[in-house]
Amino acid sequence: MENVIILGSGCAGLTAALYTARADLNPLVITGNELGGQIATTTDVENFPGFPEGLTGPELYDLMQRQAERFGARIEIDEVVEVDFKQRPFMLKTHSQTFEAKSVIVATGATPRKLDIPGEIEFTGRGVSYCATCDGFFFRDKEIMVVGGGDSALQEGLFLTKFGKRVQVVHRRDHLRAGPALQERARKNEKMGFVWNTVVESVNGNGAVESVRLKNVTTGAVREEPVAGLFIYIGHLPNTWLYKDQLDMDEEGYLIVDPYLHTNIPGVFAAGEVHDKRFRQAISSAGFGCMAAMEAEKYLASLE
Ligand code: NAP
Repeated sequence: MENVIILGSGCAGLTAALYTARADLNPLVITGNELGGQIATTTDVENFPGFPEGLTGPELYDLMQRQAERFGARIEIDEVVEVDFKQRPFMLKTHSQTFEAKSVIVATGATPRKLDIPGEIEFTGRGVSYCATCDGFFFRDKEIMVVGGGDSALQEGLFLTKFGKRVQVVHRRDHLRAGPALQERARKNEKMGFVWNTVVESVNGNGAVESVRLKNVTTGAVREEPVAGLFIYIGHLPNTWLYKDQLDMDEEGYLIVDPYLHTNIPGVFAAGEVHDKRFRQAISSAGFGCMAAMEAEKYLASLE
């Protein structure tokens, strides 16, 4: 029987692990299949306090994991495939084991949203990517296209200019959602260009991406544009399908929590992008992880 099981190994999960470990709760982290969560696929982290020179996402993940382990957190690389929060103790099944827990912190985050266009799935890993840090290297001196108009599209697009011959940002409107600082950096970068009022209709190629079909949404004009890499940054979907019918969620699937991160089930807490669609920063997720851990500690004390 575990005191607390933490689902997810991103900033929220690892911070919850650190705090519950330091509270002597001997937490177990079940990582999920995206080790380190979104921060592990982020290129440069320049806004996490305490690192004035910035650091890479994988570096931050590694430091957080080591810090949690130093105080006794156990990290299990596995994925939870079934939960039962209706019974006590709670039951959680992974691919290889079944666990029982007195409390659970759900920190399963969110994953990149897909365009849902022909060729997207077929060419994922063969030119279509959701992670510039992971795949940018493969597109040295090649034509790259980034889809989206938010901070992620510009930040990762800027990173991709280190590799690509040219990086074109395709956005469905003629105004970016990204913050002004990133916009300025992007507009100043000679390798970066913008394709406004345009959507990608399909990804085409033979074994690997060779081109995309673009449609201008104001004129209706359609054209084929040769590209080798298509990086998609159009927001996220919360990873909550596992808790359907057990934990309350909103119409988009984000978990509903009270101000202290309690879900509708006493003893089950949520932390990070699994409930937060507003802030979505590494530091805010870490903060939520800390809060959920402190609440879990209180809950466990109340059981005694
Ligand atoms: P986001 O802000 O939600 O932006 C998503 C972009 O994708 C929007 O421009 C949206 O267009 C576009 N989009 C959505 N669905 C689309 C579709 N089906 N087809 C084409 N385009 C589509 O997501 P994000 O950029 O991942 O950022 C998420 C959060 O993380 C934000 O709060 C952001 O500030 C934060 N973040 C911060 C930093 C940083 O501080 N450096 C870096 C990365 C992320 P519309 O604009 O037309 O809606």
